[in-house]
Amino acid sequence: MISQEMKRELINALIDQKEIFGDELLTTFSENDYEPLYENDIQPEPAENNVNEDKINYSSSKLFAEEFENARSLDELNRMIADCTKCSLGQTRTKFVFGTGNPNAELMLIGEAPGAEEDKQGIPFVGRAGKLLNDILKAINFEREDVYIANILKCRPPNNRDPLPSERETCIPYLNKQIELINPKIILCLGRIAANALLNKNESLANLRNGDYEYKGIKLMATYHPAALLRNPHWKRGCWEDVKKVRKLYDELTA
Ligand code: SF4
Repeated sequence: MISQEMKRELINALIDQKEIFGDELLTTFSENDYEPLYENDIQPEPAENNVNEDKINYSSSKLFAEEFENARSLDELNRMIADCTKCSLGQTRTKFVFGTGNPNAELMLIGEAPGAEEDKQGIPFVGRAGKLLNDILKAINFEREDVYIANILKCRPPNNRDPLPSERETCIPYLNKQIELINPKIILCLGRIAANALLNKNESLANLRNGDYEYKGIKLMATYHPAALLRNPHWKRGCWEDVKKVRKLYDELTA
């Protein structure tokens, strides 16, 4: 009989696998790609996260879509979209998580979606993952205030599930507007999902980390999501190599 602990390890191994390789589960796995298992708890989805489609405010979303494109600053954009209910996540979020940081940043960090702590505070990358991200930034001589941090989705998916394609498609115009207003020189995607969402691809994180990509004419790089690093510290070395490259490119582009 399989014990609870073994079950959890198996589930976590599959989550790790998906973090790196996406949906190509166990098909492109080679010895060089092997990463150890980590501990993590999978919580059942709370009943209150069930969505009533009738309550989704599609009519006002059209109004937002017309208005937010004209925003002239991040504050104005935030005010325009903060009550968004264009997708079902608008019903289940606690707080809308717009983004934070330097509005003139040359480096923009983009994650996938708010987690539980972000949903509570309305700020991206807080809690343990946020602290680790701050440490990663410090290691390459950035303060959190130097960069801008946002997510593909502005509202938390229940139970931290992956964003649905329809949610990404609906929410990404807001991020595009943020990118337009900030106009960074480099975008660093934190995790496979964020990078694939922007590039409209379905690549493994290994390919994304080593690829040469641009998004809307801006250099795009990818590394591990800090939450994944907390679960599996063995990936920190790879992250360190990635962020050193980011710093080097940043220095070249801003010299
Ligand atoms: S996730 Fe994006 S599109 Fe969906 S309700 Fe939140 S802000 Fe609106």
